[in-house]
Amino acid sequence: MNKIFALVFVFVSVSTLAAERPFGLVLHGGAGVIERTSLTPAREAEYRAKLTEAREGGYAVLERGGSALDAVVAGIVILEDSPLFNAGKGAVFTADGTCELDASIMDGRTQAAGAIAGVRHIKNPITLARAVMEKSEHVMLSGDGAEKFAKQQGFELVPNEYFQTEFRRKQLEQAKQREAAKKTSSLLPADHFERVARYGTVGCVALDRSGNLAAGTSTGGMTNKKFGRVGDAPIIGAGTYAHNATCAVSATGWGEYFIRVGVARDIAAQLEYRGTPLKEAAAATIRKVGQLGGDGGVVAIDKAGNIALPFNSAGMYRGWRLSSGSAGVAIFSGE
Ligand code: ASP
Repeated sequence: MNKIFALVFVFVSVSTLAAERPFGLVLHGGAGVIERTSLTPAREAEYRAKLTEAREGGYAVLERGGSALDAVVAGIVILEDSPLFNAGKGAVFTADGTCELDASIMDGRTQAAGAIAGVRHIKNPITLARAVMEKSEHVMLSGDGAEKFAKQQGFELVPNEYFQTEFRRKQLEQAKQREAAKKTSSLLPADHFERVARYGTVGCVALDRSGNLAAGTSTGGMTNKKFGRVGDAPIIGAGTYAHNATCAVSATGWGEYFIRVGVARDIAAQLEYRGTPLKEAAAATIRKVGQLGGDGGVVAIDKAGNIALPFNSAGMYRGWRLSSGSAGVAIFSGE
């Protein structure tokens, strides 16, 4: 009889524990010079609505017991499909007037990772990054080769014009004018324009009900980029990192600095080696980016469901929802 009681007790405790296991996600839609004066109320409302839609799309996956990986992809696809963000449709232009997209994803459970760089015809780059992770023996594929792989995997290719918007074309024109002016005048503010014209990368990190973490990031990179430039977004350890033992991180900002700091892995390493709390670790790494002269931010979630969203730019599009009940979207600093 006692044995039966003990069994029932163990069963009840295990199921209560399982029910209470925290889960949730955090996402971003890019960091940069986003000031209240630069957004009309209507535009601001559009951003908030799309961030909410992506957040809820990802959270619904977690709520019904889906994986962190599926939640990350669900959230990112919604942002890629929106022309508001610099990823998928609405990506920034290269100097040649085309869109070149980068993306990466990492599974914290297995440390598997996939990334693509410089693709021009993949509607949802995050899904191709996932295919690289799951269906190839590589971690990163680039350019034409990545698209050949996509075709083999049955991806439908879209014309580059699908990504192009008038808003981003104007940004390219302004960037070019600025570049020309810079060559003739040293009185112009150093790099203000580059910071303004870049924001909009998207990313998502999630913790699922089974305690698995995942991270993903997708971007068009930087306006007026040349020579096949690739930023941090598709670089595992810089723009994206996830490990079940520590945390999941997705970054956005001036990619060159984020690569040099190794941002996403730097945050996880502090948790791994020193047991630093997530918020402290993420803030310390963003300080390092700032010390080099870079700007941007990250979204991160740890294995216990703690989150961090630090940035050193004027704003960062962001949203979160946790099983504890905490949820929100925000754009400006101090929100
Ligand atoms: N990090 C991206 C890149 O450098 C851009 C961004 O996040 O705004 O390509």
